[in-house]
Amino acid sequence: MPEERAPGKFFRTMPLTLDAPLDAVPGLPARVLKSLAKEGVDHVAQVVEWLPFRHEDRRQAGAAVFQPGLEPVCHQVRVLKAGSRFFGRRRGAGVFEAQVEALAGGALGAQLTLRWWNMAYLSRVIAEGQELAVFGRIKEFKGRLSMDHPDYEVLGGEDEPGIHTGRLTPVYRLRAGITQKALRTATWHVFQSLQPDFTPDLLPAPRADSEFAGWNRARALRAVHFATGPEELTTARRYLALEEFYGYQLRVVRRRRALTASGGIAQPAGELAARFETALPFPLTGAQQRCLEEIRRDMASPAPMNRLLHGDVGSGKTVVALAAMLSAVENGRQAALMAPTQILAEQHFRTAQTWLEPLGLGVALRTAARSDDGAGFFTDRRADVVIGTHALLHDDALLHNLGLVVIDEQHKFGVAQRARLIQKGRTPDVLVMTATPIPRTLTLTIYGDLDVSTIDERPRARGKVVTRVRPAAKQDEAAKFLLEQLEQGRQAYLVYPLIEESEKLDVTAVTKGCADWAKRLPHFQTGLLHGRMSTEEKEQVMRDFRAGRIDVLVSTTVIEVGVDVPNASVMFIHHAERFGLAQLHQLRGRVGRGPHASYCVLFVKDGDNEAKERLAILEQTDDGFRISEEDLRRRGPGDLLGRAQSGQAPLQFAEMLADTRLVRLARRLAEKALDADPRLQAPRFAAVRAFVFGDDTPRAVMQ
Ligand code: ADP
Ligand code: MG
Repeated sequence: MPEERAPGKFFRTMPLTLDAPLDAVPGLPARVLKSLAKEGVDHVAQVVEWLPFRHEDRRQAGAAVFQPGLEPVCHQVRVLKAGSRFFGRRRGAGVFEAQVEALAGGALGAQLTLRWWNMAYLSRVIAEGQELAVFGRIKEFKGRLSMDHPDYEVLGGEDEPGIHTGRLTPVYRLRAGITQKALRTATWHVFQSLQPDFTPDLLPAPRADSEFAGWNRARALRAVHFATGPEELTTARRYLALEEFYGYQLRVVRRRRALTASGGIAQPAGELAARFETALPFPLTGAQQRCLEEIRRDMASPAPMNRLLHGDVGSGKTVVALAAMLSAVENGRQAALMAPTQILAEQHFRTAQTWLEPLGLGVALRTAARSDDGAGFFTDRRADVVIGTHALLHDDALLHNLGLVVIDEQHKFGVAQRARLIQKGRTPDVLVMTATPIPRTLTLTIYGDLDVSTIDERPRARGKVVTRVRPAAKQDEAAKFLLEQLEQGRQAYLVYPLIEESEKLDVTAVTKGCADWAKRLPHFQTGLLHGRMSTEEKEQVMRDFRAGRIDVLVSTTVIEVGVDVPNASVMFIHHAERFGLAQLHQLRGRVGRGPHASYCVLFVKDGDNEAKERLAILEQTDDGFRISEEDLRRRGPGDLLGRAQSGQAPLQFAEMLADTRLVRLARRLAEKALDADPRLQAPRFAAVRAFVFGDDTPRAVMQ
């Protein structure tokens, strides 16, 4: 089929650039241009930046004969015979077969049958005597070798050889209307015409002793599509990942420096803090003490604190936060704590009342549902400590002199919300708390703009949580055990995950679960908790559970990380196979909060051995870091990053974030660049400035 080709009219007069239209690319078949244009892809940059998500090894399978195997292979072959066989009367319902022999190598005499179903038009494309490159899996049946639906290229024919076969072949995530072959053809022709230095570098030139010596952005982009071999491909991907992380770190480091430069308040700890510690019913653990010292040092200094308090569930972050709040109060300022939910805000409020009011502090609660001023602080005096949900953000009357902002479970809040609360004070100190055990390899990315304090030790008073993975069929046995625990006066959580797509169906599932359990445990009080209930209903249920009026709480995952009911010692999690390890670990952190031995049973689908094996680590350890590292190893950083990045474009090379060396290098390069030129205004930073900030005026990227 002779085909109209783009004339490449601009090429003769000027070299191809990234912003050139695709119809300026010499050699691009018109049908390819058309199919891409229909989807709005009509510029060179669009195909260059459309990166493949994997490659297929379509290099020649050496001299070896046709070998049946599980992996697809690439061969160059000659067509001996080709034709269609039809089944029935329907036109096109048939198989097109080509009998081929190997073109080269020791495969003399060996034959292979290529088969394509319902592609009768191939009789106009593939004919006897032609030479083809084919890629597919070779099967053997009764001594005959065949390859079904191979990808093919006619050698010396219309397709340029060597685009789709005979190489490491890029595979793209497609959009409707565009085929792999069309996109690959376009990209290949584009790179045929682009100059070697078609784009400026964003990264500084690599040092001679670095793994990237000799690399630049143009080379990496070319190789990430059409690498000549696996090593080149790896380096290209790493180069582009480094570049992406560099952009990310530039934003993070810049933001951090801007904040530090903005001059905060010095709030040294004093006499109140000492009284607080003496009054506590327990001594702080070593780790709590160390973290508190780090926080106090930051607060005492006039530069604004921007610190993450990172600690596994139950490690005792709340006390540390309350102690920190005293430093603000002691210096005549307010402290605010923002929790992600009503239930948690209430719990913190109660804790704060218990521990801070005896010291003479005014504690207030502010949530959407309730505005509790404790002892009438709004009228006759101001609150020293305000606890609340995001409703705090809308309350200007209450917060007028903020010295410290504490944000609990930070990943639940958008970064923008965090910024908004912080803006209510004049550069207050900021403490962010999270129980998500983030592997150390990732903190630099996720919390790159924060200093990190980690509570890596648990209060001794806590009971151990014995965890077991059991098939769902063992529920009745488990029920007996549950009964024993209840009879000893303990309480239990029975968790049902979000199973269905619709919340309504989930509610049905948990409601039914609750009814079932109520029947099984007639002498005990069951309560139901799910996301469809009103805030007041939920609160009431939690209050009843905390007070022991409810023995068994049946709920979806709305029971929050951080809910603290020390008498609850049993948790059953149904359909545990649907959860990630880190999430299960957080859920079970709700038991084992008192002195009692505690138990967590993870029910998995009968016969789901994969899940049993995956969840086994929860039986072995309750070290949140180990568990999250295992999660990271199994599932990649997507989940963790999802939280950190919500609202932003996902990183293209996110899977490489676990590569600490690369992330650290990106960080160092970013710091160096900003040391040299804090606003990246020099001409040599023009490209990176556009890359990082979208254009020449740095916008509030990624707040
Ligand atoms: P998390 O880090 O999950 O927020 P919490 O601050 O809720 O943990 O603390 C969990 C429980 O441990 C609370 O009941 C708290 O009073 C208790 N606790 C905190 N620190 C200590 C300690 N040093 N010794 C004994 N118990 C502690
Ligand atoms: Mg907590």
